[in-house]
Amino acid sequence: MVARASRMTPPMEYVRLYEEAAGLDGVIAIHSTARGPAAGGCRFWTYADESAAMADAVRLAEGMSYKNAMAELPFGGGKAVLRRPAGAFDRTALFEAFGEAVERLEGRYVTAEDVGTSVSDMEAVARHTNHVAGRTALPGRAGGDPSPWTALGVFEAMRFAAGFRFGGGLSGMTVSVLGVGNVGAHLCDLLAEAGARLVVADIDPARCARIAEKHGASIVPVSEISGVAADVFAPCALGGVLDAATVSALQAQIVCGAANNQLSSEDVAGLLLERGLVYVPDYVANAGGIINVSAEYLHESTDEVRQRVLQIGPRVSALLDEAAQDALPPSTVADRIAERLMQPERVAEPA
Ligand code: NAD
Repeated sequence: MVARASRMTPPMEYVRLYEEAAGLDGVIAIHSTARGPAAGGCRFWTYADESAAMADAVRLAEGMSYKNAMAELPFGGGKAVLRRPAGAFDRTALFEAFGEAVERLEGRYVTAEDVGTSVSDMEAVARHTNHVAGRTALPGRAGGDPSPWTALGVFEAMRFAAGFRFGGGLSGMTVSVLGVGNVGAHLCDLLAEAGARLVVADIDPARCARIAEKHGASIVPVSEISGVAADVFAPCALGGVLDAATVSALQAQIVCGAANNQLSSEDVAGLLLERGLVYVPDYVANAGGIINVSAEYLHESTDEVRQRVLQIGPRVSALLDEAAQDALPPSTVADRIAERLMQPERVAEPA
């Protein structure tokens, strides 16, 4: 995704990470600490050069500020981006060195998993700092795999969006799901339980087959999923899926899914509005994962996670009402709300 042109860009702090012996090379970007410590995962990926890693960190850190503020979490936004070494390397030593770097920030940045990192990496980080989540869950406490929480949040967002558009629930609705991995498969379970019909697509045929067998879902090729006859389209694979071509092909009235950065460009939000389709902004719907991660850091229980995730639905309702009133794309209104929530005077207000 390109950075949104309409977004405000408060000062960004960068901490360059470089320790040759440990193979550590990357950056921590802190976008906002207005609501609390900058929270956002650690991406471990191959980048052509330092500026490509930096650009990714900036864009991802900004996105975390908006997502955390919108979910009303006591966190700002940040992200770590580490460059995967080209040759052999000691993974434990690398993530331990990263943990030391996080510790030097004295809690201004809280890390967790992101693309390319795992629970065992976070355990290595945790040997040097407490400012880390995404570790092994303890019974009754928040933590562990965030995907079921993300799926529940998307489901609730979809349920309230269906209420807004159709005046009813998801029973009897057809939902097309692109990507039935961790989140998509859990979402299908919830949708089937709610009485929705499923149409699924994934580059992995075995994953589709599992959903077909379990829930009687129809399977279509990936290239056809956005255009199938459905009431709701749920992108749960990669970002950038909504472009001019997919928007014009859509038969669904609602787009609501887990994938990050679904809009291939800002203009697409306008195209969805012109077509009268309801788009639930990705970062509003998919906040369940970060809600779980933040609860782990704050030593909260799974009940508290559930309560926070269940607030996503009413939040979507209010957002869609406001967008309809102002005749603006919901993504523009979401950014406006998140920016309001990032203002220090809003942060000080009791919940
Ligand atoms: P995953 O890797 O478990 O699942 C992704 C699925 O999409 C896989 O089944 C994969 O085969 C499929 N896929 C990949 N490329 C595809 C393509 N081009 N066309 C069709 N299918 C394709 O990932 P996940 O954890 O389920 O996350 C799904 C999306 O939700 C991602 O965009 C992720 O960033 C976002 N998200 C996930 C969480 C979470 O808690 N896991 C939280 C917030 C956002």
